[in-house]
Amino acid sequence: MDQSNVYDVAIIGGGTGGYVAAIRAAQHGKRVVIVEKHLLGGTCLHQGCIPTKSLLESSKLYNRVKQMDEFGIEVNQDSLFFNAAKAFERKKAIVNQLYQGIQYLIKKNKITLLHGHGHLVGKQKHFEIGVENESTGSVQTIFSNHVILATGSRPNIPRGITIDGIKLFTSDEILAHPLRPDHITIIGAGAIGLEFACYFQELGSAVRIVESEDRLAPLEDKEISEQIGSAFDKRGIETMPGYRILIEHMEQMEDGKMLYTLQSTKGETSVHQTDVILFAVGRKNNISALGLSNVGMEDEGAFLQTNAYMETAVPGLYAVGDIAGSYQLAHVATQQALIAADTICGISTLPYQPERVARCTYTHPEIASVGLTEEQAKAAGYKVKIGKFPLHFNGRSLIHGDGEGFIKMIVDEKTDMILGTHMIGQGATELIAMSGFAIFMEGTAWEMGMNVYPHPSLSEIFGEAAMAVSGMAIHS
Ligand code: FAD
Repeated sequence: MDQSNVYDVAIIGGGTGGYVAAIRAAQHGKRVVIVEKHLLGGTCLHQGCIPTKSLLESSKLYNRVKQMDEFGIEVNQDSLFFNAAKAFERKKAIVNQLYQGIQYLIKKNKITLLHGHGHLVGKQKHFEIGVENESTGSVQTIFSNHVILATGSRPNIPRGITIDGIKLFTSDEILAHPLRPDHITIIGAGAIGLEFACYFQELGSAVRIVESEDRLAPLEDKEISEQIGSAFDKRGIETMPGYRILIEHMEQMEDGKMLYTLQSTKGETSVHQTDVILFAVGRKNNISALGLSNVGMEDEGAFLQTNAYMETAVPGLYAVGDIAGSYQLAHVATQQALIAADTICGISTLPYQPERVARCTYTHPEIASVGLTEEQAKAAGYKVKIGKFPLHFNGRSLIHGDGEGFIKMIVDEKTDMILGTHMIGQGATELIAMSGFAIFMEGTAWEMGMNVYPHPSLSEIFGEAAMAVSGMAIHS
């Protein structure tokens, strides 16, 4: 066997999970190869976190400028214009800068990068991996002691829909070119659907968002869902929870508009028009065509089962990121990648703990949560105490000109331990990490209340919410 083709760790997929695992394993002195079929950085960098947040920053600023009068800054409102093409240029520049950074890190850590579709061919002494050049069909074979699968996911497209990038979109096509429809319908009010609803409303499109569950952001605490619902209503976004689109009743009219039918949970139907439809109805994992059965792995369905150290039932074969079945979030992929790489290298690490994962939606107002919702905590048998604090009682929020939203802390009545924190409002996606750390440290509401917070700062709401748990908040 040609030893130059034998690695300690082979990683299939060079997205968030893949490149982080590669760097960590290389830092531990391992010989590492990444097989990537498109671009290092994966969904998060090229079609996910970074491009969406870059565009949302542009649309937020555009709307902020409209409110400058309140701050004593006079702006000629008539000349304000959202240049979507420029916002896209900026997004592209940010993505490129980060992409170059990752390429540099891969070189610096002496990681081999092979371009092509990676799949498992078999396992004897080593895992055998085929790397197929998708344009020529030629296959290179490499071998590795350990394999980390990090192949991510792609948009879920409902059966019967052909995405054309003209009238019908997923997030991938929406992020490819600047689009400014007069009216957009978004199907799905999870994080991706909500963020695009916010972006398009802020740049001036009329927006309708449709959700088959009975509330927007259905995975969030109920009170957070209600608040984002009313925030969207206030901004003029048409929200339709409890409705689903009837795919078979969609048609394009002569004037180019799309006609479609919605059905409520009670069975009532209504017909609507729009310019374009964005489907944001979940993501499908890239696990077919990986050759799993060649190494004795059963076809496990929607995602790959692992233990808490990310190892599958096949010894030496790991899975991280979206395909591993936990939250489909970049920081989950990163965390799991570190755990898998450390475990492979024999370094003591922590198991993956989903209860420590913050979930963020970068709408305006922002949504962020970590740990259990009130409903989940009760269902798990906890007797809970709740501490709530509104942002409009926080000085820094008012200074920023935005007192919308609140923080809600869920605490175990018996031990005083913080079980979950849920926030909606400005800064939520930055601030939530503090509560994540408190949960990690098994912190109590008393400790959170006794922490010293700078004044004036948004972080003071943590102290207030923690004290509100025992009815002792100072400013409410
Ligand atoms: P990916 O990053 O998708 O990487 C997988 C890589 O594997 C890809 O580069 C792919 O080309 C490659 N690949 C696939 N199959 C093969 C194969 N057989 N051989 C070789 N290469 C292969 N998460 C957040 O935490 N915060 C956010 O704000 C956020 N916003 C998002 C917005 C949108 C619109 C979308 C779509 C997602 C967003 N996400 C966000 C989710 C986040 O992007 C993913 O959770 C994250 O990218 C998952 O990382 P991963 O390593 O599992 O997969």
